[in-house]
Amino acid sequence: MGKLFVISGSSGVGKGTLLKLFLNKHPEFKLSVSCTTRKPREGEVHGENYFFLSQEEFETLIKKDEFLEWAEFSGNMYGTQKAYVERKLAEGNNLILELDTTGALNVKKIMPEACLIFILPPSFEELEARLRGRHTETEEAIQKRLNSVKIEIERSKAFDFKVVNDDLDRALKELETVMCT
Ligand code: ADP
Ligand code: 5GP
Repeated sequence: MGKLFVISGSSGVGKGTLLKLFLNKHPEFKLSVSCTTRKPREGEVHGENYFFLSQEEFETLIKKDEFLEWAEFSGNMYGTQKAYVERKLAEGNNLILELDTTGALNVKKIMPEACLIFILPPSFEELEARLRGRHTETEEAIQKRLNSVKIEIERSKAFDFKVVNDDLDRALKELETVMCT
């Protein structure tokens, strides 16, 4: 059985960037592919970044009890399929779920052995600058995401580890210490 890790952090903090670097160096870890009703961003591929579903398709999976966890975040639905996680772990992969804080805490309730890691920005101003600098969200979506930050930081108290993504290389090393030792 592989180990289960959950990474959370406010939108724009650099989760995707850090995980890409980490996964390139550690092929024994796999990133779980979630389902979402969010529209794909430019360059995002169905089955690679997410399984992009309609609201109706997503609700059918909820009714069939196929999700390990699901949550509404910033007006869209996101969920992790139970069978997918069970299969990847049984195959011996160390599996990483990148979830919002609600999803992370729900996973911890069901699978207490999961290691929860919260990525923090060096400051709120830097977080906002990164989110804006990514040029992927509308102003309304940016505001919604920034409005979640306070509660996310509050919920991070229940996480096992916190890593500040200040300098990318330094943060990557800290993440490696937490996940590989
Ligand atoms: P998330 O996946 O958490 O929403 P991203 O990985 O998309 O965040 O990063 C948001 C933006 O911040 C991207 O433009 C990325 O290049 C930038 N970024 C990530 N980490 C750092 C860092 N340590 N220093 C400066 N910019 C960063
Ligand atoms: P984004 O729209 O930027 O890709 O993701 C928005 C938020 O949804 C992020 O905090 C991300 O971690 C979270 N997320 C992605 N997939 C899932 C999932 O399967 N379940 C939950 N609960 N959150 C998810």
